[in-house]
Amino acid sequence: DTAPLWLFADQLGPHVWDTEEFAGREIVIVESTRALGRRRHHRQKLHLVLSGMRHLAEQLGDRATYLRTDTYREALEQVGRPVVVHQPTSFPASDMVRRFVKEGLVTEVRPTPTFALGKDEFDYWAGDRETFRMEEFYRAQRERFSVLMDGEKPVGGKWNYDHDNRESPPKGAERLEVKAPWKPREDGIDEQVRADLDAAGYPTVGNDGPRRFAVTHEEATRALRHFVRHRLDTFGPYEDAVLEQDWAMAHSLLSVPMNLGALHPLEAVHAAEQAYHDGDARLSSVEGFVRQILGWREYVWQLYWRFGRGYTRRNHLRARTPLPDWWTDLDADAVTANCLSHALGGVRDRGWTHHIPRLMILGNHAMQRGYRPAELNDWFATAFVDGFAWVMPANVIGMSQHADGGRMATKPYASGGAYIDRMTDLCSGCAFDPKVRVGEKACPFTAGYWQFVHRHEEMLAGNNRTARAVATMKRLTDLDALLEQESAREEF
Ligand code: SF4
Repeated sequence: DTAPLWLFADQLGPHVWDTEEFAGREIVIVESTRALGRRRHHRQKLHLVLSGMRHLAEQLGDRATYLRTDTYREALEQVGRPVVVHQPTSFPASDMVRRFVKEGLVTEVRPTPTFALGKDEFDYWAGDRETFRMEEFYRAQRERFSVLMDGEKPVGGKWNYDHDNRESPPKGAERLEVKAPWKPREDGIDEQVRADLDAAGYPTVGNDGPRRFAVTHEEATRALRHFVRHRLDTFGPYEDAVLEQDWAMAHSLLSVPMNLGALHPLEAVHAAEQAYHDGDARLSSVEGFVRQILGWREYVWQLYWRFGRGYTRRNHLRARTPLPDWWTDLDADAVTANCLSHALGGVRDRGWTHHIPRLMILGNHAMQRGYRPAELNDWFATAFVDGFAWVMPANVIGMSQHADGGRMATKPYASGGAYIDRMTDLCSGCAFDPKVRVGEKACPFTAGYWQFVHRHEEMLAGNNRTARAVATMKRLTDLDALLEQESAREEF
């Protein structure tokens, strides 16, 4: 069979198109203006996607047919014969492919090649369970792919080194003492992408800026090597820490090439494991990195399909507040709370922050203030450069907003300013004080936390992991004043 292989924008790596099956096959890549302009994406995300597709086309040379059309259908009609495609990564794209199969535009759909575990294997593992905690899945993944295993036991005797990976940022430091992240060198393709995006007038959000992430397999391999050699060892202890002047900390920045399908997750995992065996990185750092990729990333991918289409409409906490404009417009300057301004500013300037600003600042604020989970999910999927349809539901609806009623997390991830003060250097430069609940200096996270506990008192009292928070809330002598203040708060 020599049908051309049609690649989506998140299927850019050689593990998709250079396999035994597809080696030498004609490759079809499509820039659909309809798909690019359908939602309000971060400007830099559109850049990364276009840059990735065009760099691949250049690399493939004559093998590639690169089409710019309004719709995918138009492109496939131009190809003129049925194509093969891999199962895409979202429900809407899957529906589209299914229609194309019926209409004869697509002749065959192969399984998604950009993750370690296949869907069938996951379904077998998941069986008929209703709740999904990550730890068990993660251990099964370690065993299944023989990563950090010593026979049947985990290397080092423990599965989980989370405990070592929760350091506060180093006192007094402006930046981590670690080599700067790998940076791509922009070329003529990037220049053209920038000019095309300026001219196209797609609805976007956020600022343009230099390209910061790898988009080809070659770039991703370099970024991975640089990370493993220079940054992985420091990654673990400070993976949850935030410094105002250090946007990347020791994170790998590999989520973009991985989610573009330019880097296979097992390549990253194996490189990290090798660094441990070579004595270049401590076990807790390597384990933390492996957990993020082989554990968490694979898990949210599988759960996207498992939880199904209706999952993003779950709203267990009945959160009804629309996202404010300053939020969706990434107007960080309109925000007084330093942590919130910092996190939003990171999204505005780079389309990226690491998981703690996402979960413990942005997500935490949104849950405290009752923002609509479905809107928040869409926002995370479009305003972040590594956001795709499958990435956010388990993260946002499940983990961050507890909107699924506890299918993923045993308790809501709400916390007050004390957590942010411990894990960041942002409170010292803030107009608010994390210890103050009432009055002009009242921290919106601390006060917002107690307001949240009060609003969901019944549910939290019934959960033995959160019952104590309710008891503490009841002892607050200034609770009435706090509730009055927070319900009147219009700015943050
Ligand atoms: Fe954020 Fe409160 Fe700290 Fe200000 S004091 S940075 S609002 S946690």
